[in-house]
Amino acid sequence: MPHASRSGLRLMHVHAHPDDESSKGAASTARYVAEGVDVHVVTCTGGERGSVLNPNMDRPDVLANITEIRRREMEEARDILQVTQDWLGFVDSGWPEGDPKPPLPEGCFALQDVDHAAEPLVRLMRSFRPHVVTTYDENGGYPHPDHIQCHNVSVAAFAAAGDPDRYPDAGEPWQPLKLYYHHSFNRPRTLAIHEAMLAAGLDSPYAERLEKWEADPKHDARITTKVPCADFFEARDRALLAHATQIDPDGPWFAIPLVIQQEAWPTEDYELVVSHVESSTPEDDLFAGIPPQ
Ligand SMILES: [Zn+2]
Repeated sequence: MPHASRSGLRLMHVHAHPDDESSKGAASTARYVAEGVDVHVVTCTGGERGSVLNPNMDRPDVLANITEIRRREMEEARDILQVTQDWLGFVDSGWPEGDPKPPLPEGCFALQDVDHAAEPLVRLMRSFRPHVVTTYDENGGYPHPDHIQCHNVSVAAFAAAGDPDRYPDAGEPWQPLKLYYHHSFNRPRTLAIHEAMLAAGLDSPYAERLEKWEADPKHDARITTKVPCADFFEARDRALLAHATQIDPDGPWFAIPLVIQQEAWPTEDYELVVSHVESSTPEDDLFAGIPPQ
């Protein structure tokens, strides 16, 4: 159910890299913004070690200025989603390639001590004062070292932000009320969209992926919260396209017609992990149980 005005409510998404805010939870972000919620994105790293994933942007001038370009892309996405955003200031750990994997680069985000890296996030939680915080699950959603560290740091900051004995110099304590993990790339959704593509007589880009992806009902059962946001898939796609170095407009992401996504899976999905308010699951709203402000 859309709510007319929910001003006074605040939502904080903690993400590892610029573009994660547009690929995970962006349609629910756009919906909550339209309803009057203040949404703040925290980006842990600058994405300095990300590869250029769009063949049209894989040029020497882009590679030479990747940090600055990704900052500008983030600014554009931020304007599209109408969110505010802060950088946590850590350096991208990169995706370790090779067998065995090389050691992570010195000083990168994933090598930071969690209590140390949580401090600037505690400070942001105490100044923005979110009612709801989202992050990734313990596997990072996918096992990029920065995503796993984003999980560690978010969970630590959520637990510490309301405690006056922790980080006493990081502002007035504030306890966010609910903590969620993103689960939007789940197998049931992928399967539903795959089947809808075939039913429409179209090629599905997911056939190969699904063959290797075993059903895991226990993992699927972790989803507690499905936020209807189909009207905002278009805004999500525009925000994602703003990250031009990170997304191939001709790639599989955009191979599914919006109408098929909207009919086959009109929600973004989350797992409620901590709640300091009464709310029974399943639920369809990240703010369920939180009184209007
Ligand atoms: Zn990422």
